[in-house]
Amino acid sequence: MIAPGGTIGILGGGQLGRMLAVAAAQLGYRCHIYAPDRDSVAAEVAAEFTCAAWTDSVALGQFAAACDVITFEFENVPVAPLAPLEAKLLPHARALETAQDRLKEKRFCEGLGGKPAPYAAVDSTEDLLRAVELIGAPGILKTRADGYDGKGQWRIDMARDAAGMRLPGTACVFEGLVRFAAEFSVILVRGQDGEVRFWDSAENVHTGGILATSSLPACAAIGHQVAPARELAANIADALGYVGVLTCEFFATNEGPVFNEMAPRVHNSGHWSIEGAATSQFENHIRAICGLPLGSTETTAAVLVMENIIGPAALTAQDLLADENAHLHLYGKREAREGRKMGHVTRIAAAGAAG
Ligand code: AMP
Repeated sequence: MIAPGGTIGILGGGQLGRMLAVAAAQLGYRCHIYAPDRDSVAAEVAAEFTCAAWTDSVALGQFAAACDVITFEFENVPVAPLAPLEAKLLPHARALETAQDRLKEKRFCEGLGGKPAPYAAVDSTEDLLRAVELIGAPGILKTRADGYDGKGQWRIDMARDAAGMRLPGTACVFEGLVRFAAEFSVILVRGQDGEVRFWDSAENVHTGGILATSSLPACAAIGHQVAPARELAANIADALGYVGVLTCEFFATNEGPVFNEMAPRVHNSGHWSIEGAATSQFENHIRAICGLPLGSTETTAAVLVMENIIGPAALTAQDLLADENAHLHLYGKREAREGRKMGHVTRIAAAGAAG
């Protein structure tokens, strides 16, 4: 168990790190952020900041020596340079490795009985033509690594589009388009003793590949799909010897839950848990990696909607506070670029207030 006053290292300096650092501070810990960008919004609320490249072995070594436990808020951290940190790293590097490669991730999920969208590896135009022939169009070509928020993805509407397409020059995977009734995520926390707790599964709506809203209660199409999806997510966590918060995203379809992807970290679709659950995803992640007992994941709000504040919408976000049930989180990012997650707002109706 990490005693109060101990130092938690966080790889990555974005909003997830910022919210983790706030939760850690509440439990009496200090956070040390490691990120390559000077402009790291997590560093603004942390005790220490190392600004260095992911591959700087000297800086990583000094960082590791200064921390009692190390976690990450960003899954595209290169894994190889983390080897000297492994003894202190939670979740383990294997979770990162699996989630960083869409192909590996899908095979891993299938190996545990999960069902991803039909897919094929694509390394050349010939591979793509064969994949589209086999799986059919429409579909989506995705880079195997480094994609997030809809980046590194190209929709292929018709087979003939594939022939003239210029590939991104990096390994890809082609996925059939899933006809889903709704999208949802399973967010769980697994403690060092293997105990697993789930938050309620919110209904997620994406616009242009970016999460727009997460709502509870979720629609009826999701309800009966949560149990098998939870089973898969728990199997994934067990197989990885996982410690901390793990997110698995699913499509709810007529044939049951289809696995989309996993994130070995706290997740945007769980931000509602800050105000809407007994213990937030951020606090439980900190509890898990520090070896503390896990808190209740029970939903305390009757109805809630988390909405992302994206790009220039942030400039007028304070107006949202005119609604007394709106909880505003701004991440402190300086530039409100188009498509950039700047903050979120969670609107809550307290238990007993609905209906
Ligand atoms: P991803 O980055 O892979 O999670 O994709 C972002 C969003 O794009 C998903 O949440 C879906 O809304 C949509 N999407 C991605 N892959 C598929 C697919 N195979 N079929 C249908 N929609 C998809």
